[in-house]
Amino acid sequence: MESMLSLIVPVYNEEEVLEVSFNRMDEVMRNIGYPYEIIYVNDGSRDGSMRILRRIAAENPQVKVRSFSRNFGHQTAVTCGMDAAVGDALIIIDVDLQDPPEVIEDMVRAWEDGADIAYGKRVKRQGETFMKKFTAKCYYRLLKAMSANEIPLDTGDFRLIDRKVADVFLKMREHNRFLRGMSAWMGFESVPIEFVRNERYAGKTKYTLKKMLKLAMDGIIGFSDRPLTLPGYFGAGVCGLSGLALLTLIILCICGVGVAPWLWAFLGVTTLFGLGFLFLGIQGAYMNRMYDELKDRPLYIVAEDINLD
Ligand code: UDP
Ligand code: MG
Repeated sequence: MESMLSLIVPVYNEEEVLEVSFNRMDEVMRNIGYPYEIIYVNDGSRDGSMRILRRIAAENPQVKVRSFSRNFGHQTAVTCGMDAAVGDALIIIDVDLQDPPEVIEDMVRAWEDGADIAYGKRVKRQGETFMKKFTAKCYYRLLKAMSANEIPLDTGDFRLIDRKVADVFLKMREHNRFLRGMSAWMGFESVPIEFVRNERYAGKTKYTLKKMLKLAMDGIIGFSDRPLTLPGYFGAGVCGLSGLALLTLIILCICGVGVAPWLWAFLGVTTLFGLGFLFLGIQGAYMNRMYDELKDRPLYIVAEDINLD
């Protein structure tokens, strides 16, 4: 049977862009040549987005809409789209045309050539503030330094994923979701597709500073154990140094060299301080394990089986 594509589009108060966005995306999908569905997930819009979506869906049977009771956030909306999609490859794209729909063609070609994930890599970002570009650049580098899995730089959620990747997403039900991190954690054959990120077609960003910070935290907390383990290393370092210093003082005392009393007090305090951090780190190690168990991610992910049924 012929393969089918699912385009997943999260929507939050996007009445200014929906119509134009649909026309452009629909044309690109039609030209690619596979049967396709376009799934809009309305993330609790309070403007006229739903009215427009109802009309588009009434006129186009390939359009499907799932509408939330309130705003649950972009990452959850995309997850919902993945849950609903029935295609053999899923493509995630923003509705505001910042991710050029034409790039989907390149992603599909990469998929036909065997890629499991074809992710959009921004080589340039147009029409975004210096602050946004600068903070994004710093953040992606910090995340890379902190996390054990290689999360590709300058990459958002604009990507194509094969059905087998989507099936793993269906199994990963962690609540604080950072999809691009989850995708990197899974592994699979990933191919970057470079593109220039455009300006928003119309309207303003729906990612408020608060939502942005939450996403940034989800990335670090969900994919790095460093914040919990670092205090332990720090504490061990301080304890080690002050232990050595204490030992030197004791030897000096034994050798009959006089030692200022405040030095004893000072080293006593730093040792206790170090111990405090060391135990914080040990607690962190337990918390990391609990957190891991709670996330309940699959133990391993199979890419291929041979002679196994
Ligand atoms: N979005 C959403 N829920 C939200 C915020 C955003 O579904 O709470 C959607 C939005 O409609 C768009 C995509 O997520 O399709 C990306 O949002 P936006 O373009 O505002 O973010 P930016 O590109 O400025 O980071
Ligand atoms: Mg945008």
